Amino acid sequence: MAVTVTLPDGKALELPDGATGADAAAAIGPGLARAALAVAIGASPEDAAEVRDLARTLPDGALLSVITSKSGDQALQLIRHDAAHVLAAAVMDLYEGVKISIGPPIAEGFYYDFEFPPGTVISEADFPKIEERMRAHIKAAERFERQDVPVAEARERFVAEDQDYKVELIDDLVSAASDPARGGDSPLETVSLYTNGPFTDLCRGPHAPSTARVGAFRLSSVAGAYWRGDSTRTMLTRIYGTAFFSKTELAEHLERIEQAKARDHRKLGRELGLFTFSEVSPGAAFWLPAGTGIFNALVRLSRQMGAERGYSEVKTPQIFDSELWKTSGHWGKYRQNMFTVQVEDREMGVKPMNCPGHAHLFGSSRHSYRDLPIRYFEPGLLHRNEASGVLHGLLRVRHFAQDDGHIFCTEEQVEDEVGGCLQMAFDTYALFGFEISIELSTRPEQRVGSDEMWDRAEAKLTRTLEELGLDYELNVGDGAFYGPKIDMHMTDSLGRSWQLGTVQLDYSMPARFELSYTGADNQEHTPVMIHRAMFGSYERFIGIMIEHYAGELPLWLAPVQTIVLPVSDRFNEYAASVRDSLRGEETRIELDDRSESIGRKIRDAELRKVPYMLVVGDREQGEGTVAVREHHGGDQGSVPVQEFAERLDGELYSSALKPRKSSERRV
Ligand SMILES: [Zn+2]
Ligand SMILES: [Zn+2]
Repeated sequence: MAVTVTLPDGKALELPDGATGADAAAAIGPGLARAALAVAIGASPEDAAEVRDLARTLPDGALLSVITSKSGDQALQLIRHDAAHVLAAAVMDLYEGVKISIGPPIAEGFYYDFEFPPGTVISEADFPKIEERMRAHIKAAERFERQDVPVAEARERFVAEDQDYKVELIDDLVSAASDPARGGDSPLETVSLYTNGPFTDLCRGPHAPSTARVGAFRLSSVAGAYWRGDSTRTMLTRIYGTAFFSKTELAEHLERIEQAKARDHRKLGRELGLFTFSEVSPGAAFWLPAGTGIFNALVRLSRQMGAERGYSEVKTPQIFDSELWKTSGHWGKYRQNMFTVQVEDREMGVKPMNCPGHAHLFGSSRHSYRDLPIRYFEPGLLHRNEASGVLHGLLRVRHFAQDDGHIFCTEEQVEDEVGGCLQMAFDTYALFGFEISIELSTRPEQRVGSDEMWDRAEAKLTRTLEELGLDYELNVGDGAFYGPKIDMHMTDSLGRSWQLGTVQLDYSMPARFELSYTGADNQEHTPVMIHRAMFGSYERFIGIMIEHYAGELPLWLAPVQTIVLPVSDRFNEYAASVRDSLRGEETRIELDDRSESIGRKIRDAELRKVPYMLVVGDREQGEGTVAVREHHGGDQGSVPVQEFAERLDGELYSSALKPRKSSERRV
């Protein structure tokens, strides 16, 4: 008797019956036997492989690949799960009477939730002690032993140990197993336990062969977490940590976190005097003059680019009768996210999106096919009732503005219009030097319209993407209920991905609003609606941009572009005249006339990341010049004021909308 498995290179490997993953790795080579952490088993190449312990016997005919530290996320997940068990083992060693609940690996590390005995409060100050115990468990290279035991036996064990959460988990597994509504079809007979050293956990696995595979770890934070996420249940203590194969990888990870902290837009926004938040209006930014300058520069850019591409700017109301929201479908599906107000005896909703207003506007007059496409743009102010717990600086707010555009066109015009939107998006992102990736999302389960409509719409988007020669990822089933969409994501300088723009086909709203145009055949037809935004919300975009550039915004967006620095008070008057002559609609210029040394003034301006510093003293005043210093670039020599003005204009208006070189640098 033998089992045969197929390796990733297509070769068959024959092993004696009862062979394990470890046996397979050893049969391939001694190096792999040492490096192996687990195996991935698949039934077919299309099947998602299941990761299993090395010690488990192999099923005949499986596709097998061996997971090592080089296997990326799969491998990291394994040792992070190992580290969670090690954390629980250490906590059990140190705190008598502690109750354990769950401890999974997560995207950036792992956590474990505990109920500490009354009176014991854990803080980061306890981490060194816990980490020391964790290191002892890792140094001991404790093997992870899996045992599949009868349910009753496992239950008794945890009852005897007073581990109520584990007992509840077992009871829940038992009832789920025979509950068809939860996908169960047969009574549960066994559960799996994993033991490392003195610690045993109810756990599905898999795990690496021993705790020694956790190369480097760090506990990071502690937080409260309700048992099962249920606010009526006990508040547990969640300890977070992360783990890597090597100290170098851990150090790099910690460095990235430090950089992200240093770049946190909330911190930079405060330091650079851009915006502030207040409890008097949670989730809504108060924009200071410098931040308002950035905001307005982006709005001007959307207006300018829109105007060049045939958009007409419109303005629609802030609050609408609930009847409009019923027509659009928001009242049924989105009402809990809207702010509502009672006006006399009518219920009104504050707009969370501009689309229904634009649809209503389109419907307010008659249109012929000759008028189409009609492209509306509105940098409209929106409100969404986000829960206070999810608000996060500018990235998640209740009050924001979007660069919102809606195109009403004929079926035949869809491809050109979508192509135009994509081109506009690329033109926009190029100004910021962003790397963009594209996703096409297709029909979801819950949707309106016929399959034939969806076939057509998806084909149009696919064709447009292919004609433009764009690479994209397919997100099957992720489209909006009213139509398929194309989303654009940028990867920032810390490697994080952000969704920015979107282009969505909508076959639902025009029908709901009974929109029509008169065709060449003199019949009434329903137009197609395209929703598109490049920035999404300006607030969020500014937050992303501040973090991406670490606050060093390109000249045209810099909150203060130029600052005049007199070397002493004697030159304040000349400095003020320089400032006045450079003032303009697009220029944001300041004067530092404090009685500080010039060295101090330069240092402060550098900290504020002001692109141009104009130093003026005796010589400059005598010659009508300014000595130009560039942020990061140092001394650029003296030039007549007029020459500098032209240089600034040139940079702002032509090559203008490009980030400065110093801002393009990647970390
Ligand atoms: Zn586990
Ligand atoms: Zn829309």
